[in-house]
Amino acid sequence: MRLPWREYFGFLVRYLRPQARWVALLAALVLVTIGLRLANPQILRQFIDVATSGGPRSELIRGALLFFGIAVLAQLLSVAATYVGETVAWTATNALRLDLLRHALHLDPTFHKDHSPGQLIERIDGDVATLSNFLSRFTIDVVGNAILIAGIVALLFREDWRIGLPILAFVVLTVWILGRIRKVAVPHWTAYRKQMAEFFGFVGERLSGTEDVRANGGVPYVMRRFFDLVRKLYPVRLRSGIAGYGMWMANVALFTFGQAIAFGVGATLWRASIITLGTVYLVFYYTDLLHGPISAMREQITDLQRAEAGLRRIRAMLGTPSKLQDDGRELLPSGALPVVLDRVTFAYEPSQTQDGPPAGGDPVVALRDVTLDVPAGTTLGLLGRTGSGKSTLARLVARLYDCQEGTVKVGECNVRDVGLDHLRSRVRLVSQEVQVFRASVRENVRLFDPSISDEAILAALGELGLREWVLALPSGLDAVVGTGEAGLSAGQGQLLALARTFLADPAVIILDEASSRLDPATEALLEHAVDRLLAGRTAIVIAHRLSTVRRADSVAILEAGEVLERGKREVLAGDPTSHLSRLLRTGMEEVLV
Ligand code: ATP
Ligand code: MG
Repeated sequence: MRLPWREYFGFLVRYLRPQARWVALLAALVLVTIGLRLANPQILRQFIDVATSGGPRSELIRGALLFFGIAVLAQLLSVAATYVGETVAWTATNALRLDLLRHALHLDPTFHKDHSPGQLIERIDGDVATLSNFLSRFTIDVVGNAILIAGIVALLFREDWRIGLPILAFVVLTVWILGRIRKVAVPHWTAYRKQMAEFFGFVGERLSGTEDVRANGGVPYVMRRFFDLVRKLYPVRLRSGIAGYGMWMANVALFTFGQAIAFGVGATLWRASIITLGTVYLVFYYTDLLHGPISAMREQITDLQRAEAGLRRIRAMLGTPSKLQDDGRELLPSGALPVVLDRVTFAYEPSQTQDGPPAGGDPVVALRDVTLDVPAGTTLGLLGRTGSGKSTLARLVARLYDCQEGTVKVGECNVRDVGLDHLRSRVRLVSQEVQVFRASVRENVRLFDPSISDEAILAALGELGLREWVLALPSGLDAVVGTGEAGLSAGQGQLLALARTFLADPAVIILDEASSRLDPATEALLEHAVDRLLAGRTAIVIAHRLSTVRRADSVAILEAGEVLERGKREVLAGDPTSHLSRLLRTGMEEVLV
């Protein structure tokens, strides 16, 4: 086993220390249960010996009652131990889940680009669940069972070394053989699980794409792929099934063999009058008692290996630093703030996939030597073809990424010198794809901040001219919106996002307009809302519509990451040779899209 013990214990101590009392209780419960389980056969032996030697009836009854009482007590205590064990494990792992989630939310977008949501779920839930399982069962099954086995062997030695020795040999042999068989079986099980994951991945993806698959005549292809996958699955499943069965068979065979040894040794010594009949039964009983702990320990070894892998991945994730340093202490002044980009160059890092070779070679240069300035309280309209770097520029101002060269300043402060939380409370990015959560309109607008009252929400909506729109929904603020069936149109999503931003009252707004066309009514609503939202604030609006350009004080046109043209809107629009006036003449959409 390659478990990094030191690391492991450091981790265990960190998450278990807060519940030291519960852990102590758990240890006590486990030890007492083991003691009781070891004591019971001794009573049985006495019972048998008294019975065979024709002892008094009252002693027999006392022995029987004692046996019964201890058995029930041991059972109750093991229930209590399981309860305490689960409580300890879940409290510890929930703390860990929280730490992981917090960390994931603070990591920069590069991390999230490289790790799919599925991977993160697996890390925060899957790996942690394995660990929890391991934490709760480890003390009980591994430590407890090891003590139990040692206790049984020791007690048998105490009876007679001629009994202890063969049973000890049996234990060692069994553990060894079962370990060997496992080694053969595990690859088959792993292969099966991998194949199943691929299969589920395939089914999930096709199911979520049903509409497109059907509309594009992809059904025969999907069926064919499905068939291929199922055909591959069959032999793998067969092999893993046989491996599991073999394991079980070996288990049964070994323990039958163990009982044979106990019988043989017991009978021989009894015939030589070295031990009593009660002791023969005692040996038999103890040997039988070994079955449970040895099997359980075998299982736990797998868990231990899985927990080790999970622990490594968790540590790796917790150890990943955010690429965005958050040690700035400067505070942004209140009121509208100017935004200045000075010779900014930025490239996206190529993806770092965890498994397999790194995807993509060179970094993608998205912005090159961009210089722009947006005076406080004015609106800059940003134009450019798709892929020209508009959204990238927006992300730099909101500091979702740090530029490699040049500086981005908001209100005279370099964005790097401002605390991230503070920066984000003053600079808001409304992105192209608005995330609508599956929740009520109320929660979507206030983003689950219970301190914001309905009145405040309605006031904000009223300011933006959206009050009627919301009140016209079937259940007003309580109307549940979300993706899929109850989905909002792109325009409605944008409206919600605007209300969200308005409530936050930032000084700088970066608005990445949705490029989809809207129906005229929503368009009118949106325009009014944007007008209201931008009033008195500094704004960078990534424009996909002519109406937005008309609102801008100045305009910049990006082309392949560079500024092609910038200046006051009226000046550019009045100059017939400018790119802007050409765009306006031809109708922007045709040129830009
Ligand atoms: P659109 O009008 O389609 O929204 P855009 O002007 O907003 O386009 P950006 O999203 O800024 O364009 O993209 C600029 C360049 O950066 C493109 O070449 C794009 O492929 C690349 N790019 C954008 N996002 C990423 C990312 N997360 N990782 C790597 N490259 C990216
Ligand atoms: Mg974009």
